Amino acid sequence: MSTQRIQREARKYALQNAVLFNGKANEKAVTGKVIAALKKDGVSPGEIIPVVSQVVKQVNAMSPDDQLTELTNLAPELLHKEKKEKDFSLPALPCAEKGKVVTRFPPEPNGYLHIGHAKAAIIDSEYARLYDGKFILRFDDTNPENALLEFYDAQKEDLHWLGVEWDSEYHTSDNLQTHYKLAEQLIRQKDAYVCKCASEIIREGRFHGKPCACQEQYTGTTGLDLWKQMLASPENPWILRLHGEMNSENTAMRDPTLFRVITAKHPLTNEKYHVWPTYDFAGAVEDSISGVTHPFRTKEYELRDEVYFKILSLLHLRTPHLMEFSRLSIDGMPVSKRKIKPLIEQGLVLGFDDVRLPTLRGLKRRGIVPEAIKQFVLQQGFSKVESIVDFSLVESVNRKYLDPKVKRYYYVPDPVQLTVTDAPKKTMNIPLHPDATMGDRTIHTSSVFFIPKDDVQKMNIGDVFRLKGLYNVKITKKNETIQGSYQGESLIAETAKIQWTTQEFIPLKILVPGLIFTGENFNPESLKELQGYAEKAITDLPSGEIVQFERVGFVRLEKQPSGWVGFFAHK
Ligand code: ATP
Ligand code: MG
Repeated sequence: MSTQRIQREARKYALQNAVLFNGKANEKAVTGKVIAALKKDGVSPGEIIPVVSQVVKQVNAMSPDDQLTELTNLAPELLHKEKKEKDFSLPALPCAEKGKVVTRFPPEPNGYLHIGHAKAAIIDSEYARLYDGKFILRFDDTNPENALLEFYDAQKEDLHWLGVEWDSEYHTSDNLQTHYKLAEQLIRQKDAYVCKCASEIIREGRFHGKPCACQEQYTGTTGLDLWKQMLASPENPWILRLHGEMNSENTAMRDPTLFRVITAKHPLTNEKYHVWPTYDFAGAVEDSISGVTHPFRTKEYELRDEVYFKILSLLHLRTPHLMEFSRLSIDGMPVSKRKIKPLIEQGLVLGFDDVRLPTLRGLKRRGIVPEAIKQFVLQQGFSKVESIVDFSLVESVNRKYLDPKVKRYYYVPDPVQLTVTDAPKKTMNIPLHPDATMGDRTIHTSSVFFIPKDDVQKMNIGDVFRLKGLYNVKITKKNETIQGSYQGESLIAETAKIQWTTQEFIPLKILVPGLIFTGENFNPESLKELQGYAEKAITDLPSGEIVQFERVGFVRLEKQPSGWVGFFAHK
């Protein structure tokens, strides 16, 4: 190994270290880097150490400006601090054994999944994967008023897109007979009773912590008889309540409802059942009987945990290790079906896949990729602390995924015509990405171009700018359109580099989503539009491709019957 080679490596890393640490490189750190870099060539530390020592002294004697200039020439790739990939692994589960962990994701098929559901589904499935366990998809479809057939499949489709795969799936509505049997057991044990009271009376009783007469009267054999009447006919619209603790500090424990009559037709069981379990009952029972070991729910259910444990204990059923995480909230976005639905119903958004919405379909349409959602979720971690995060966090992870991978093109918003009077005719192969393996596109130029109005407004007659990737132009006239003259091809420092199209363009509208809420109010300005010209080459792309328009941002392109439309993901 030549000393020259060692010197070259040492110089690179010494410069990098100096640039990163206020002009002074650390000999030890640099030595480590050089040893690592030359290890595969069999260079011994003994050869390296004295060379590094000398080089570090030389580099530390340089001015920071010179260090930066030399590093930029020598090894521009080292200009950016190497970020160690942070380990976003989830904390260990309590009482968990490899191979024996079972988790589940229990969506209600009453709407499209959003990024909050993605958080739950990703955490649930990741834990199963980490422990070589099993992950169940369970449709909690026990409210026929809300459940719709189309949502079962839509939710599965969205989970597939997200990259979440499950080992088995079922519907809670498959198990109603079992639920009824368990209800009977509770009544027989006098741990549940049929309550015939009107809902205001029930509310008042709970408020004052006073039981009603039904608690004593309609349990045991009498209770069983009434329960059977309930099951036999929806004409008996009573409820079944847990004999909890009417004077408990925890209001959730004040004889919560376990079953109620709902006559709406169910998308899977039709009119077979009209007595449906509540979330309290179905959730606890299903987690237990399906073998789930570590069920997670969002923190707002914390008060209901006591009910969960009570039900299972009275039924002598296995108690899973119930855990909580915080609900995901994003500033200015509705991360809840309850908030998304009215926006769609009132026509305030274009549909469930509106690019302003955090539904998985909205995010997909906008050009947010599943890998980014997953990393964002894991980055947020498992905290119980409720916080409202900024959507820019999702954008920044997404940008990291897209930047090295997507093709770059020119898009000119608010185009202004530029005529270069003495323009040479050119045929250019302009790379689609700094990574040359991604290829290029061929552009033929004549004397007519289009450039962004924003840039034109900042320029005066006599100014020189560069048509990015092409040549320099000096402005000679400026009216509605502008005229310029050819100023050669060599790069001139400090000139603005502006993206452009030739007359080979397609007009392209880009929809730009903003925050849908300002405070609690709908933001009528939340969807803006860019009008402009894109270079023709984008029409060769498949519909749905995400590209980066230089100086504009990342945009997902969609070919619609009326032509191409863009959706702005982020800068
Ligand atoms: P929504 O308000 O959107 O209807 P939900 O909790 O009623 O929410 P479900 O379909 O019942 O919706 O939720 C399925 C799972 O997803 C539950 O375990 C729930 O805790 C979780 N989940 C829903 N929204 C969020 C969120 N914003 N953050 C984290 N987890 C969520
Ligand atoms: Mg729900």
